[in-house]
Amino acid sequence: MFTATGDDWAERAATLRLRTQMFVDGAWIEGSAEPLSPISPRDGRKLPVISAASAADVDRAVRSARRAFESGTWSRLAPRERGQLLIAFAQKIHDNAEELALTISLEMGKPLREALQTELRAVVNCFRWYGEAADKILDELPVTAPNSLALVTREPAGVVAAVVPWNFPLTMTAWKLAPALAVGNSVILKPAEHTTFSALRLAELAHEAGIPAGVLNVTPGAGDIAGRALGEHRDVDIVTFTGSPEVGRRFLGYSAASNGKRVWPELGGKTASLVLPDADLERAVRATADGCFYNQGQMCTASSRLLVPRAQRDRALEIAADVARETLPADPFSITTSMGAIVSEKQLASIAGFVQRAEATGAELAAGSTERFTAVDGGSYFAPVVVGVTPDHEVAQREIFGPVLSVIAYDDVEDALAIANGTEYGLAAALWSTDLNAVHSVSRRLRAGVVWVNCFEEGDMTIPFGGVKGSGFGRDKSLHAIDKFTDMKTTWIELA
Ligand code: NAP
Ligand code: MG
Repeated sequence: MFTATGDDWAERAATLRLRTQMFVDGAWIEGSAEPLSPISPRDGRKLPVISAASAADVDRAVRSARRAFESGTWSRLAPRERGQLLIAFAQKIHDNAEELALTISLEMGKPLREALQTELRAVVNCFRWYGEAADKILDELPVTAPNSLALVTREPAGVVAAVVPWNFPLTMTAWKLAPALAVGNSVILKPAEHTTFSALRLAELAHEAGIPAGVLNVTPGAGDIAGRALGEHRDVDIVTFTGSPEVGRRFLGYSAASNGKRVWPELGGKTASLVLPDADLERAVRATADGCFYNQGQMCTASSRLLVPRAQRDRALEIAADVARETLPADPFSITTSMGAIVSEKQLASIAGFVQRAEATGAELAAGSTERFTAVDGGSYFAPVVVGVTPDHEVAQREIFGPVLSVIAYDDVEDALAIANGTEYGLAAALWSTDLNAVHSVSRRLRAGVVWVNCFEEGDMTIPFGGVKGSGFGRDKSLHAIDKFTDMKTTWIELA
């Protein structure tokens, strides 16, 4: 769909018109909380200050969303018309994709090429897909006695709050907004602080596409102020959340302490990539390392644990280390770059801390270092790390959200399964083997919402995505996501 070309992205970034206010009821307004002061991780440059929402500002946005919902301008529109407007919105995003990709690259440091060719493509596809689905969702007419007619219908739930992370800022946003809007809800989006500019521009494009005022509002701000106010608001019906387990569980608490709203958490992961003895080791290890380092390792599905037979462990470590040395960070604005900047100095310090502790406690450092990497002066860069560790090591248990691959040896399949399932997470897993029987039996015993066999990160809008255990229970994508944003209603009609 898109191809990144040209070498003038830095100049283009300097001329971007960045929106800096809240978007409520179709208008830009000032927030009254302490403003956000974003920094570009590409070169440490200060970006324009952004107005932030207080609890009172969030309340204003919720009231606007509720008014829009009750007015029926969106909630009672014919599904086909809502669908057409979502498709028009997708086209607007398509037509402004380079600007949006550049904004993402500027604010969170991912390579411009990835932002355009992977992220924006996914965002356009997602809004189109739910736009096309809007008038193809069927209700039920169960069989009852001849003198009655029972309708089981799906009704939009009302006001939905979407709280999202910065790593795939517009993809995560699209996964929430598209199904919620397709069925007629009003939405309030609280973007991650690091990726507010792209969210504000997205809302502006929705408005330009003809989505009515109040149907999509954006309340930028701090998580524990603007995010929390949405979680605790008594007139928010649903929270759809992607982020850390810690904050996801907080939203469950906000719900319990307010109106018992539905919360759909999609949380982190610690993906095991399990290489069975018959697999092509080179191919499996390369794909796993690529899957761990992609997006600077800032991925909930990052394949951060490579599990190999003990006899192949040293060779696997060597192959992974080669991939790490081939994947060094570079300027995100150069179209040949595949690894960009870490989102912030805070995140970089956290990643470096994990590697330092690993080294100090006996991990074998096969590639990378405990120190930062310099790609663009003033920026936040960290080169990929490969460590040989035991399964109980901190780096092999906790989500690092950085390019750090743990290589772990196992003794037999039972041992491998125990290691693969032995973290608090259960988002995704990968399995490498061409033995059909082994693939079938082992994949069924991996406790994960998604299992990739002989591939990594494959997916489609038709396929649900989400986890089990500590990774939460929300599902994004596919028609299943519609269930999250609708109420099931029974209408019993007694006939004469
Ligand atoms: P995060 O700290 O949990 O933040 C996610 C969102 O919640 C942000 O908008 C954040 O706002 C907000 N927030 C923070 N503290 C809050 C609070 N006390 N109350 C209400 N809202 C609050 O996660 P992150 O650091 O942005 O992203 C990394 C995490 O997301 C990782 O654990 C990763 O695995 C997970 N993730 C999961 C998926 C998935 O699909 N399962 C996808 C991507 C990422 P601020 O920006 O102000 O902090
Ligand atoms: Mg955070």
